[in-house]
Amino acid sequence: MSQDLRSRVRDLAAANAPATLADRRHLHAHPELSFEEHETVAYVAGRLEEMGIPYRGVAGTGLVAEIEGGGPGPTLALRADMDALPIQEANDVAYRSTKPGIMHACGHDVHTASLLGAARILSGLKENLSGTVRLLFQPGEEKLPGGATLMIRDGALKDPAPAAIFGQHVHPPLPAGTVGFRPGIYMASTDELFLTVRGRGGHGAMPHQAVDPIVITAQIITALQQLVSRESDPTLPVVLTFGKIESEGGATNVIPNAVRLEGTLRTLDEAWRKELHQRLRRTAEGMAAALGGSAKLRVAHGYPFLKNDEPLTNWAQSAARDLLGDDKVVDLPIRMTGEDFAFYTHHVPACFYRLGVGSPSPVHTDTFDVDEACLQTGSALLAWLAMERLRQPAASSPE
Ligand code: ZN
Ligand code: ZN
Repeated sequence: MSQDLRSRVRDLAAANAPATLADRRHLHAHPELSFEEHETVAYVAGRLEEMGIPYRGVAGTGLVAEIEGGGPGPTLALRADMDALPIQEANDVAYRSTKPGIMHACGHDVHTASLLGAARILSGLKENLSGTVRLLFQPGEEKLPGGATLMIRDGALKDPAPAAIFGQHVHPPLPAGTVGFRPGIYMASTDELFLTVRGRGGHGAMPHQAVDPIVITAQIITALQQLVSRESDPTLPVVLTFGKIESEGGATNVIPNAVRLEGTLRTLDEAWRKELHQRLRRTAEGMAAALGGSAKLRVAHGYPFLKNDEPLTNWAQSAARDLLGDDKVVDLPIRMTGEDFAFYTHHVPACFYRLGVGSPSPVHTDTFDVDEACLQTGSALLAWLAMERLRQPAASSPE
């Protein structure tokens, strides 16, 4: 039975490959920025109508659709994000972005097309489906507060709560046809830091008449890095990076009044994340005060850490081996990048895995593109995970 279903999933993925490819190329050529995915969501709605799949609008420019199976059973969710980035595409391909300064440089066109592909496969196998597959087409992954928070607010994980949710993300270093998994904690929380250090400006040759915010800042940066190296549990990685520092005025011979810094804080533990916000503030303000200046820290809260449910992810990894072959499924290390799928993982058992796309360029660069063979793997695996999980007794009792 399972054997037979597996070949039907593969066959349907192959039969629908041209449609999925056309979807991806259309989406790639017509990218839209976060929370502005109006044409994208209209395109997705059009394809769902062709398949006869009912849907409702959520989260401004998002959709929730449901494929009801031939038999009763629990609900499972599959998620794709749909937004593009403010990057001018440098690729010279027929399907390159038609919108100046906007590009699908994070592969969300691949995610959306793969989910449409999975919907075609699942529609074709509806009679073999025991339960419901909910499709989440999500806006705004790249921008705070994260489209996932709006999807959740608008009930994407309710009535009923899905027994599990799966999502995938393109992964340039893995070849197309290959996927990667990491059970447990997988990605980091992401907070943005905005620090202002104030002193008192003056002549560069007369520092004793000024309070130099640049020297204060130098010491604050060093002190803050000790929160990572001396105060954080070394078994729970933390990253603190200041990527921007600029003075308010200043010159070779002018001490400025203030210095502004922007940075990012990444953790794998919610309690420690909150504690670090306090310690960052205490250290920066205390150090500045001790040196005669002042400091103010603003923290813009980003995404939480992403945790893959261990039993679900171990199961998904073996199901992927079943479909794709042992040599096409790899183990992945923890990453300190962030992803708003993390919000779902704090609500229901979740599995976020990587889809190999064999790209020499990393995501978020103007030369990023994919080996389009990845689309068949991406759609087949999503459909296979949903079908197979609905057949598991474990699926009906979410932990
Ligand atoms: Zn991205
Ligand atoms: Zn992304």
